[in-house]
Amino acid sequence: MEKVAQYLQEHIAGEVITSKDARKYFSTDGSVFELEPQIIVYPRNSSDIRKVARFSWQLAERGKHLPITARGRGSDQSGGSLGSGVMVVFPAHMNKLLELDTGKGVVTVQAGALFSDLQNTLHTHGRFLPPYPSSIDFSTIGGAIANNAGGEKTVKYGQTRKFTKELDVVLANGELVRTVRLSKRELNRKKGLTSFEGEVYRQLDNLITDNWELIQNISINTTKNSAGYALWEVKRKDGSFDLTPLIVGSQSTLGVITEAVLQTESYNPNPTLISASFENIDLANQAVEEILKLGPSALEIVDKYLLDFIKQNNPNQLVGLVEEPHPAFILLAEFDDVSDRKQKRRSKRAVKILKNLARDFSVATDEHERDMLWKIRHSAAAVIWHSNGSKKALPIIEDGVVPRERLREYISGIYDLFNKYNLQIALWGHAGDANLHMQPFLDLSKVGDRQLVFKIMDEYYQMVISLGGSTSGEHNDGRLRAPYLAQLYGNDVYELFKKVKKIFDPYNILNPGVKVNVTQKDVAPLLRKEYSMEHLSDHLPRT
Ligand SMILES: Cc1cc2nc3c(=O)[nH]c(=O)nc-3n(C[C@H](O)[C@H](O)[C@H](O)COP(=O)(O)OP(=O)(O)OC[C@H]3O[C@@H](n4cnc5c(N)ncnc54)[C@H](O)[C@@H]3O)c2cc1C
Repeated sequence: MEKVAQYLQEHIAGEVITSKDARKYFSTDGSVFELEPQIIVYPRNSSDIRKVARFSWQLAERGKHLPITARGRGSDQSGGSLGSGVMVVFPAHMNKLLELDTGKGVVTVQAGALFSDLQNTLHTHGRFLPPYPSSIDFSTIGGAIANNAGGEKTVKYGQTRKFTKELDVVLANGELVRTVRLSKRELNRKKGLTSFEGEVYRQLDNLITDNWELIQNISINTTKNSAGYALWEVKRKDGSFDLTPLIVGSQSTLGVITEAVLQTESYNPNPTLISASFENIDLANQAVEEILKLGPSALEIVDKYLLDFIKQNNPNQLVGLVEEPHPAFILLAEFDDVSDRKQKRRSKRAVKILKNLARDFSVATDEHERDMLWKIRHSAAAVIWHSNGSKKALPIIEDGVVPRERLREYISGIYDLFNKYNLQIALWGHAGDANLHMQPFLDLSKVGDRQLVFKIMDEYYQMVISLGGSTSGEHNDGRLRAPYLAQLYGNDVYELFKKVKKIFDPYNILNPGVKVNVTQKDVAPLLRKEYSMEHLSDHLPRT
């Protein structure tokens, strides 16, 4: 591999590294898996990435396999940012905000920009990018696009796909293309190209046209979904065609994103936030249903077990915020209407609902009060970063989403599962989208716990699918959930996903082992012996 690294270093402007410690460093991400890359590349520009891809493609033509994995900050919890070949790491150099059109609210940014850096800049212009993940401080824009990330504001605004207007993408053979919605005539022009891009448009259009009914009938009736390839968003009835929604959420399995043009929203720094406690799941569920009708900008939930966990491990964190005994659930509802009058009206209606259903509630309109209430929801981080002896909170069943009307059944099912395996329960998440997070404490150095990982996953994903849900609301398939894709979408649609992959990546160079063609047998050997998220600390090229 040293020769390959040397060749690449001679041809690109960025740094190429093969040191043992760097490879070790990039062998983990936010997931429970481990896989060591052979070469680390810190590209300085898209031309560097094109050269790496072209090189890998030429090797493949000669029967040699050197996969490419794009990487932001490696916070991915599905194992999507791991790879065994060349790891193309964006944040070191390709992290610039290139253009902000304040009139149109459109921003052009390089893939490796830190999400929170972009968000802070947007705030100063009265704008924001709504689908920010809770990992905003340690994740990139490229990672958010590739995962179709979402977060607390998704209930009102939607996920990353909705805000991604155009992308610059390096294809498997090294061609750089710009994706954008094309008219029928523009599509025909693309299909006439003799390049690989033309081939992609021709084959994909044929695939969609031939399977139109099947694609239109894909019905996962959830308000968010990051599983699979969003084939249903590519071609519209008017004949217009866009690769962008397909690349969004594709986890570097179809192309490497270098730049993005994103639509932002106007930002209201003064929302109203309401926190309410509930004695049981029925009352909380009713409140969710009724408050949803008011169009909240966030509708989040934490349960009693999370609060008990915080009390036990960090007694001061929630002092003065939540009364004891802890309620069964706390909901946080936010209204961020730019019109003060509208915001007040909606908040008043929410209060009326809560007077009937909640044990108690409080309304925060100033920044300090709001920050204090958000602490309740953000206290979930304490579980994620906590270690209970050698047991760690593992992200293995952390992102299922179900149709909104099945939230109650979903929560009961999760409690049953945790009780069945005698696991410590704690759940939190996006009640308004029925997208919940929970991470069971297990010890990956123990054979019994390692076996349990797959048992729990099987039962959990089975439950989510049987409730009409999706295995991933926002964290994507990666290696973790890829084995459940066929079950989720059915074999016919899964076959289409495999064909999409083949069209974009005939030599299986782009992040193989992620999203499609993955079985549990493939991923079981990658399970780590010990889980931690050390890699989330800063890294820069060492040359
Ligand atoms: C504590 C914690 C909380 C989280 N909360 C949320 C949340 O609220 N919502 C949410 O959606 N996610 C969440 N995540 C998951 C993850 O942080 C996000 O999805 C995030 O957007 C990933 O960004 P990243 O820069 O870390 O990407 P990485 O982990 O580096 O990569 C993620 C995926 O994107 C691909 N990728 C990265 N860059 C590119 C590129 N330039 N071109 C093509 N593909 C690329 C990678 O190959 C990989 O498949 C959380 C994770 C943790 C650890």
